[in-house]
Amino acid sequence: MKYVSTRSKMKSSEAVTSAQAILKGLAPDGGLFVPEEIPKLKPAEIERLLVKRYEVRAVDILHRFLTDYTIDELAECVELGYDWFDVPKRATIAIFLNDKMNQPAPPPPADSTAAAAPVEKKVTALLELWHGPTSAFKDMALQVLPHLMRYALKKTGETDQIMILVATSGDTGKAALAGFSDVPQTKIMVFYPDGGVSDLQRLQMVTQVGSNVNVTAVKGNFDDAQNGVKKIFGDKAIRAELAEHHIKLSSANSINWGRLVPQIVYYVSAYVDMIDAKMIKLGDKINVTVPTGNFGNILAAYYAKRMGVPIDRLICASNANHILTDFFQTGVYDRNREFYKTISPSMDILISSNLERLLFHETGDPRRVKKMMDELASTGKFKIDTVLKKKLDRIFYAGFATEEETRATIDGVFKEFARYVIDPHTAVGYAVAEKYRRETGDERPMLIASTASPYKFAPAVLGALGVDVSKMSEFGQLDRLNNISSRMIPAGLAKLDKAAVIHTNVVEPSQMAEAVLAFAKQ
Ligand SMILES: *Cc1c(COP(=O)(O)O)cnc(C)c1O
Repeated sequence: MKYVSTRSKMKSSEAVTSAQAILKGLAPDGGLFVPEEIPKLKPAEIERLLVKRYEVRAVDILHRFLTDYTIDELAECVELGYDWFDVPKRATIAIFLNDKMNQPAPPPPADSTAAAAPVEKKVTALLELWHGPTSAFKDMALQVLPHLMRYALKKTGETDQIMILVATSGDTGKAALAGFSDVPQTKIMVFYPDGGVSDLQRLQMVTQVGSNVNVTAVKGNFDDAQNGVKKIFGDKAIRAELAEHHIKLSSANSINWGRLVPQIVYYVSAYVDMIDAKMIKLGDKINVTVPTGNFGNILAAYYAKRMGVPIDRLICASNANHILTDFFQTGVYDRNREFYKTISPSMDILISSNLERLLFHETGDPRRVKKMMDELASTGKFKIDTVLKKKLDRIFYAGFATEEETRATIDGVFKEFARYVIDPHTAVGYAVAEKYRRETGDERPMLIASTASPYKFAPAVLGALGVDVSKMSEFGQLDRLNNISSRMIPAGLAKLDKAAVIHTNVVEPSQMAEAVLAFAKQ
């Protein structure tokens, strides 16, 4: 399978292998790499995965996209990448909420001539994706990506060093640092918005060890950091200077194909697990809700749907920065709006980079995609036509949760489900999934991506549960949450208490390029 750019028609001689796409990160024309076609998964092939471990399911799915890797190579990447899960079944970690199908019918109403209330059939499964070393779903891809890159260097005969540049809204940074730390032939540099990430997220990053890592704060928000990184990627002079030091740039943001493809696996695997748990039968359709920022995670669910996993609706959940809700509702993507800092900071994003891939797959027309992306760059907005809008309407539902609704959802789930605590990002997803059900009456089984451990956002979670955190230290907050929650503190967060701060750089957005060159020369 070959990969092409979203922004220009490539001759087949220009299409690249998956190893090349993973090394380059971005296509030469500034577009994103996409597979020339989306492989199909037959029902019997889904059924075959039923008795398999997560790692085996992963190799099966990855090999359909990464055809220039051998099965053995992929097996090694996956086994090394997932050697850390703290649950026995690895990523097959769906938690099933309000599965009322097997519960006794409610007692008949006092007036026995009235019809009995119907038994509620609502099924909600949470896909806990945060059992990795950094307690957010991004580990699911970023623990595998460095191994995919190692093999990609070998396959393409690359002898230069690869420098990974990352702009992070909080969780990608730490997950990428953890994945790439001390990986040979790589350097990794992470930019995060100064004051735009949670205390724990910041501590996770600035304490990162490794001979090849750099962490720098940027005075600005996530979009400033992301635009700075994009600018560096597009700057020929910087690339030339880096080349003198035998360094090539690449990306570990979800614009990199190697970030997206491992995420497809868990949607396939979750569907299989729901069959295994007898919530559904093979072929039954489910809906999937994803709390969304850069549109990477939900795009992975889209690929799973296109492959043939019986997913009906994809529900795109946003927070107060609901640019995607507006886009799906009106057909206009407009970033000229106020930016809010919310309690779900990993979704505080106004440019959802991976939307470009969706536009490509749904139009099949790179010239149109380029036009929309050029418009977005110059005016901050673009509009899709009614034909495309109708197509997207059939696939997606979009909604958002306010800060108040997010807090109320954390509290509501805690009370309803035996002290089960969800993080604010997951709560946004949960709230929007409920809105979708109320608005449409569609009661199909719902799978909601649970994207972070609640411990990662302890102050917001405790606040939502009515606990005053103003006098507690970060670690006091973890202990307090531990007291009231049904789950333990993840080991990676508990030990931050004693970790030394190593990285203290802060730069203006305009100084990011300089910082990259300085790190390259180290
Ligand atoms: C990154 C992140 C998201 C958003 O995912 P995208 O792939 O960027 O849409 C949601 N929740 C958490 C906890 C995250 O870290």
